[in-house]
This record gives sequence, structure tokens and C-alpha cells, in this order.
Amino acid sequence: MKTIGLLGGMSWESSIEYERIINEEVRRRLGGVHSADLLIRSYNFHDIEELQENNQWDEAGRRLAADAAALERAGAEIIVLCTNTMHRVAAAIEAAITVPFLHLADATARAVLDAGIDKVALLGTAYTMEQDFYRGRLEQHGLEVTVPNEADRTFVHEVIFNELVRGIVTSDSKAGYLRIMKTLVQQGAQGVIAGCTEIELLVAASDLNVPYFPTTRIHALAAVDAALGE
Ligand code: GLU
Repeated sequence: MKTIGLLGGMSWESSIEYERIINEEVRRRLGGVHSADLLIRSYNFHDIEELQENNQWDEAGRRLAADAAALERAGAEIIVLCTNTMHRVAAAIEAAITVPFLHLADATARAVLDAGIDKVALLGTAYTMEQDFYRGRLEQHGLEVTVPNEADRTFVHEVIFNELVRGIVTSDSKAGYLRIMKTLVQQGAQGVIAGCTEIELLVAASDLNVPYFPTTRIHALAAVDAALGE
């Protein structure tokens, strides 16, 4: 089994889900008392959020790249970045390491195509919904991606930063997310990507009647596949 290096804490509310899902899946596949071989670099999210807000993506890229290289030196054989948003600096990370980097948008696109659909709604932070680094990567896989209107994007973004990354989950916000998801489905989306790793803390597959793509779960399972050579 390969050692997985996790760049997490963005926020830890979802990073601990990565750790839980990866460990549960390794135990499910290997049995006994098997668990995953993990190295974790978990950030103070306050610092990350500040870099995002101040548009300091180059600095964020330098920090994440240096830490990915440190994880590799410590023995990581695969690097997993536990956030959709920070894939904005994926290229800097990939340039700093020699081991595979499991890009979250690639794993998600494969899951969507495996479900036999190609028109999906994307909810995430404003960075993820509005900038090209994530949407564009999904579109390169042949997907047609729609995002909420401006007011709804603001709502989705604010719930992530004011509630979900702080461990706050409310029924009002869940109702708002479901309304937005259903609107996009009525407009033609065949499935919904929870394109922020905390969204699946709020909305579950059972809340929707179309295919749902929770990126934490998808990415964590892709990491297990890679670690076990499957
Ligand atoms: N975890 C979130 C994501 O998947 C948002 C927090 C962050 O900015 O990293 O995009």
C-alpha cells in the first residue's frame, strides 16, 4: 500500500472526512485491522482564507508546493489536495513534486462520465464556480457545466465561509442549497457536483433525485484506488 500525503485543513471540517473515508475504505477492501498509511499537513484555515481574499494565489501556490515537496520527502507516494478551491494552484504543486498528484476535477469528471451523464451543475466557492481552473478542467473532459445565477452563487459562497468551514450546519442553508440545485436541474442539469469539500456535510445524495457527486468522497476513494494500485 502506498503512503498518501494529504494537504488539508481547508477546512479541517472536510479534511477529517477525507481521513475517515480513506481509512474506512482501506479497512473495507483489505479487512482485518488494516488502515491507511497517511501523512497529513493540516493548515490554519484563517491563513488560507486570507490569501484567497487578498488574491495572493502565487503565495498560496508557493506554500502548498513547498509542503507537498516536504510530504514527498517524508515518504508520501501520492499527493492529495483536500479542497476544490485550492486546485487553482495545482500547477505549482505538480511542478514541485515527482510523485503523482490526484487532481480533484479529474476524479470528479470521471465519476460523472461513469454515471452516463455529461450535463452537470457545479456548486462551490465563488472561486470554483466563476474561475476557469476548475470548470475549464471539467469541460476538458467533455462535460457541460452550469453554475447558479449571481445571487445564488453569493449565497452558496457565504454559506461555505460563514457556516460550513466553521462547523455550522443549518436546515435553512440546506433548504437554500436544495432550491438552487433543483433550479439547475430544471434548467437541464442531469446531476449535481458538490464542488466544495464541505457541501456534503450539508446535502446528501438522498436529498436529491438526480445523481450527486460529492467531491470529498470521490477524491478520497480515488486516493484509495491509487494507494492500492487499483
Ligand atoms: N473546502 C472548500 C473547497 O473545496 C472551500 C474552502 C477552501 O477555500 O479551501 O473548495
